Amino acid sequence: MSDTITELKDELLINKTMLAKQCDLARDAETERMRLHTILERTQEELAEAKEQIDVLLKVAGKCTWKEDDEGIWDTTCGEAFTFIEGTPGENDMKYCCYCSKPLEEAKFEEDTE
Ligand SMILES: [Zn+2]
Repeated sequence: MSDTITELKDELLINKTMLAKQCDLARDAETERMRLHTILERTQEELAEAKEQIDVLLKVAGKCTWKEDDEGIWDTTCGEAFTFIEGTPGENDMKYCCYCSKPLEEAKFEEDTE
């Protein structure tokens, strides 16, 4: 009878120790979860900032193409139109679009060769 009580006591002690270990693990997991959540929030904020910067860069990047039509009117990528008394944008020393400020690229009118 005494042996059985001693065995039960030992088993109880082992169970208690294991439970304490599991509690420690659960606490560590919660701490880690909170740490990762903080990192996730910071990463999401940085991502949002990066997206804003990309939008700004995309607005200033690229070229504005001025495409000449058959009447000598130059239609711009940014939705404007321009005419010259004489010559092309380049021959008039225009390096940038005067509407959107992007580098200007010329596309001279070419007759259809059909
Ligand atoms: Zn433009």
